[in-house]
Amino acid sequence: MSFERLAELLFPDVERDAEYYERLYPPRKLPEGAKVTRLAPSPTGFIHLGNLYGALTDERLAHQSGGVFFLRIEDTDAKREVPNGTELIRSSLRSFGLNFDEGALEGGDRGDYGPYRQRQRAQIYHTFAKKLVLEGKAYPCFCSEEELAEMRAEQEREKVNFGYYGKWAKYRDLPAEEAECRIRAGQPYVLRFRSEGDPSHYLHLTDQIRGKIDMPENDQDFVLLKSDGIPTYHFAHVVDDHLMRVTHVVRGEEWLATWPIHVQLFAALGWKCPKYCHTAHLMKAEGSGKRKLSKRKDPELALSFYRENGYPAESVREYLMTLLNSNFEEWRLANPAADIDGFRFALSKMGISGALFDLDKLRDVSKNVVAAMPAQQVYDAVAEWAKEYDRPFYDLLTADPAYALRVLSIGRGGKKPRKDIALWSDVKPYMSLFYDELFTREEPMPQGFDASLVKKALSLFCETYDEHDTQEQWFAKVKAVASALGFAPEVKQYKQSPESYPGHVGDVSMFLRIALTGRSSSPDMYEIMQILGRERTLARLNGCPV
Ligand code: GLU
Repeated sequence: MSFERLAELLFPDVERDAEYYERLYPPRKLPEGAKVTRLAPSPTGFIHLGNLYGALTDERLAHQSGGVFFLRIEDTDAKREVPNGTELIRSSLRSFGLNFDEGALEGGDRGDYGPYRQRQRAQIYHTFAKKLVLEGKAYPCFCSEEELAEMRAEQEREKVNFGYYGKWAKYRDLPAEEAECRIRAGQPYVLRFRSEGDPSHYLHLTDQIRGKIDMPENDQDFVLLKSDGIPTYHFAHVVDDHLMRVTHVVRGEEWLATWPIHVQLFAALGWKCPKYCHTAHLMKAEGSGKRKLSKRKDPELALSFYRENGYPAESVREYLMTLLNSNFEEWRLANPAADIDGFRFALSKMGISGALFDLDKLRDVSKNVVAAMPAQQVYDAVAEWAKEYDRPFYDLLTADPAYALRVLSIGRGGKKPRKDIALWSDVKPYMSLFYDELFTREEPMPQGFDASLVKKALSLFCETYDEHDTQEQWFAKVKAVASALGFAPEVKQYKQSPESYPGHVGDVSMFLRIALTGRSSSPDMYEIMQILGRERTLARLNGCPV
């Protein structure tokens, strides 16, 4: 039986040929050097930091070069798929400011290279599988699970490499007539690639991140189509990346080991390989070493963690960029206010050993990112977050947006902005002193002062407080209270002879601060009083237990 007959038997429903698809998906008309990248996640309901890390790389490569960044859904594993898995991917990435130019988008596919969901591409995979059978490069294999297990046991005994290759490739040279009989009898089979690779020969590959890598050729007759006709990742991504005219494949380093398979497949199909960029894993410090972030142990691997806990998307992006490109931090120091997209992203600046991901560092980065945001942006983001995760706080914020904005404006915009907020979930405790509903006294008055003195300081201040005072007038009054009670009006003075005073003006300020805010550290007190207004200011000062 000829390959042709076998191919017809295996793929009776295939109507098109390879040329048809080559014409349907012509090379893209893009400017010289424009890169085409894709994010190709599976809709398993778990979208993780690694996806975002790769997506940022894809997005920058494409958009920095005037190219295209698209979304392909690798939904060949129906068992692992969850309802809304695709929507979750899109909304997560959107919330991090990543937008696709084409692909499996809301409301259907956008772009000329679809369909962008692998399950809708069965005809395409089968067309190219048929082509491989026709050329004698693929064959049906009828190995049962038991046979495979037996083979593995024997390989173990013989201490040889595991897998389906060489003399172990039992059905590789099955006479076509016999294959036909088995198929007609309805015996299940997978379609395997007939590998001509020789592991004693080395492929000289160049990874765009890792540089030159020599890897042995693949000799395994790997599976192209599973018994249900669904393609493996190896086959599907090669077909897709070729027909979708991808120029750069960015993927995790877990795919490095099977790269020779992909190179071999591209060659067998007569196609040019795209450039491959294998990104390093994200790691976490553990003890004195580091380990891969794990789905089971590390909640921070899931992108949902950042949303739920109120990590600003801008901060996560900013921090990931510091991990992605070694010169980003330096650029940020020189360009503190610049848009992150102004940074020139480069594959050559990516590390090859696992990048250490550290939530504390992310927090620090975030404080700077939030400090540089206008109050309105902070307000909008906090309200959006609270709407979903802290409804009572949302109601409070939105009941009087102008008031919330005044609070959020404190210490913002100057040369040395305040850095109180890292997460949106920090905002409620930070703002609580401005809302009587949330206000609690967290710290007591400092020790070592006579209670009657403290009380006197508060009441004296209340007697003179005038909400129309300027900041200077206000501070002069604080000093006057200090002097009236025998406190040093200047800290310097106090330091020269501490025994002469019960304390200094700073201590009086502290009494006021604790009485007003319930904490020893707070934003500018004058501004707080202005925002709280006369009545509430006096109520706090008078109502403070001493
Ligand atoms: N679906 C694969 C994954 O999620 C895609 C790998 C690739 O980008 O080629 O790992």
